[in-house]
Amino acid sequence: MSPRRLRRLAGTPVSELKSVPERKLAGLSSMEIETVFDLLTHYPRRWVDRRNASQIVALADGEEALVSGSVVRSSSRRLRGNRPMTEVLVDDGTGLLKCVFFNQPWRAKQLPNGSPVTVFGKAELFRGTRQMVHPVVDLLGNQTGRIVAVYPQSPKARIGSVELGEYVAEALERAGEFVEPVPAEHLGALSLVGRTAAFRDIHRPETHGARRAARRRLAFDELLRLQLLLVSRKRRLALEAKGIAHDIVEGGLVDRFLGHLPFELTGSQQRAIAEIRADLASPRPMNRLLQGDVGSGKTVVALAALLTAVDSGHQGALMVPTEVLAEQHFYSSREMLAELEVEDSSRIGGTRPLVVGLLTNRTTGAERARILAELRAGDLDILVGTHALLVEHVEFASLGAVVVDEQHRFGVEQRALLREKASSDPDVLVMTATPIPRSAAMTVYGDLDQTVLDELPPGRTPIRTRWLSWQEEETAWRHVRAELDAGRQAYVVCPLVDGKWEEGEEEAGEEEAGDELTEGSESRLVSLPSPERRPPRSVNEETDRLASGPLDRHSVGILHGQLPSREKDLVMSRFRKGELQVLVATTVVEVGVDVPNATVMVIEDADRFGIAQLHQLRGRVGRGSVPSRCFLLADPVTPVADRRLEAVVRSENGFELAEADLELRGEGTMLGARQKGRTDLKLAALSTDRDLVAAARDVATSIIDADGSLSRPEHQDLRDELDLFVSDEEREFLFRS
Ligand code: ADP
Ligand code: MG
Repeated sequence: MSPRRLRRLAGTPVSELKSVPERKLAGLSSMEIETVFDLLTHYPRRWVDRRNASQIVALADGEEALVSGSVVRSSSRRLRGNRPMTEVLVDDGTGLLKCVFFNQPWRAKQLPNGSPVTVFGKAELFRGTRQMVHPVVDLLGNQTGRIVAVYPQSPKARIGSVELGEYVAEALERAGEFVEPVPAEHLGALSLVGRTAAFRDIHRPETHGARRAARRRLAFDELLRLQLLLVSRKRRLALEAKGIAHDIVEGGLVDRFLGHLPFELTGSQQRAIAEIRADLASPRPMNRLLQGDVGSGKTVVALAALLTAVDSGHQGALMVPTEVLAEQHFYSSREMLAELEVEDSSRIGGTRPLVVGLLTNRTTGAERARILAELRAGDLDILVGTHALLVEHVEFASLGAVVVDEQHRFGVEQRALLREKASSDPDVLVMTATPIPRSAAMTVYGDLDQTVLDELPPGRTPIRTRWLSWQEEETAWRHVRAELDAGRQAYVVCPLVDGKWEEGEEEAGEEEAGDELTEGSESRLVSLPSPERRPPRSVNEETDRLASGPLDRHSVGILHGQLPSREKDLVMSRFRKGELQVLVATTVVEVGVDVPNATVMVIEDADRFGIAQLHQLRGRVGRGSVPSRCFLLADPVTPVADRRLEAVVRSENGFELAEADLELRGEGTMLGARQKGRTDLKLAALSTDRDLVAAARDVATSIIDADGSLSRPEHQDLRDELDLFVSDEEREFLFRS
């Protein structure tokens, strides 16, 4: 029999397996298991080692052990406070073990007399009885002497782990040998086991070593498929695009702009600008991601990119996610570019001042008409704005470069819209102050080139961060008052404006890592009753409370996105001048606000913010010569929120925090944002498989370099397999030769 391709398995319905009864098909289908391929990639959630069951009689106090036996008695009763307690007595022929469960009255039904059961937990001697409190319970029948896979199962589908194991065993046996799509040289170099062994050992391992090797191989395959798609897409885009080869003008706008900065560029900034200008000069359109921590100086790099396009006779656009940010960027770039002149043959002297414009949904009427006309005529050089830039009737005379700031969701579709705005493909630079770990960058932004600003401008002072409970809030205000009395300033950040989140914001997710609790399977998570969470505070109420309480001797201003622009400008300029000592604000202070005299920040309801956001906010202080402090005010809520706060207290490095964030949140959210439909990652985890991600990237690059359309005979199997995971459209785009 010839080896099996995944396509073949994907074309074989599970109903063809003899061990699968007709009546289970609907249940399997509800678990998205339709084909043998689905079944074989329904990977175990964990494995139970049945090779080493302990005898109950020999259990020592405090010993972690696995015990296999059958239930001889189950009983439930209520403790004081009405708390249910269930006791299950297990007999393994050598002795009795009492298993105790609190708040899980369903255990009695789950474990009736006579049912075979395996429990794992810490044995204790309690009043002469051996017992385990909340052991992990497996209803895996009498399978002993081997490592048994425990499958994710759905109680609704009424298909247990044991049955799934039987179906898988038959599928593996009937599948026999699997096709090996990855060239042997790569497998050898990475010490990866063959695919046949991998599928066998992930489901029915003989040793833990074999199980780990199997997982590594199958995770690699997932990552390789993804990277092959990303690398091909990147190559394709480069091949198909008609980019602009910008002229690099010696002594032009860029040189003048950089030459007049009041500071020296950091080494990172110089490298980034050089990379970007090389991209701009090349006829291949730039698709680059610039990552740099808060305050690393990305704006200068962005402006250098846009000015390069203007130098070369084109226009530039800077796109940001919110109107508030657009306004801030508009004012600051107009100021930074104020002295620059561009060539204009129609004028006396042949030059005119460089023109920067602002376009958001708030730009209306005559102002809007004027900007659109200037844009079309080429009289406007750099346009700053929100997504409003992407709408149809915004036409540029010649759009040459686009910078997209803080836009994690800027994806393929948006790029396509931009492309429609120009006769050639504009160069695109995506910037983010939320660094993402390398493994995630390679995956989520795998079709972009990467530049990292890994250096902060000199003169930053460290920020000491402390997490205080609400009960301890006075500690923060005491420190704030001391700073204010010493002539310095403070920020107070609250999550809400009048009970609503700031524009463009959403509350940090509460994705709890961990297994879903399903009856019959087990989880170590003990769900605690969640404490009453206090409602988040809003800027208006907080301003009143602080101004009449802890900060009543001081001048307090207020800033949020719903204020009229004029008022915002006024508040900011008063704060900048020191007329206001305290600024109570929403996340609008996250970006663009730079007041070196502000040395303390209090973030209220800090548990409502994500890691990246807390880090961004905190970056508003630590900009002067005096050491700064940041206080996070929050009561402990959920383990995930707590770990977020702990991470922010522990580290001031954006890249480290990004790793922590990835570990806490998993890659789901990151992948989801940009890789729609890319759900093939069942085993691979970007946080723990960093080396595999990099290895898969290298292998994919070397394969695509040698054979861009995967048409060589030795790549047939790989291409055949990729086909399973891509849409028709994408296949057409990627593998046309
Ligand atoms: P971000 O990367 O967070 O967007 P910005 O571009 O806003 O950072 O820069 C933060 C501050 O640092 C600004 O005030 C900017 O003028 C200043 N800055 C940028 N580059 C340098 C540098 N090389 N030396 C000193 N200050 C710099
Ligand atoms: Mg910035």
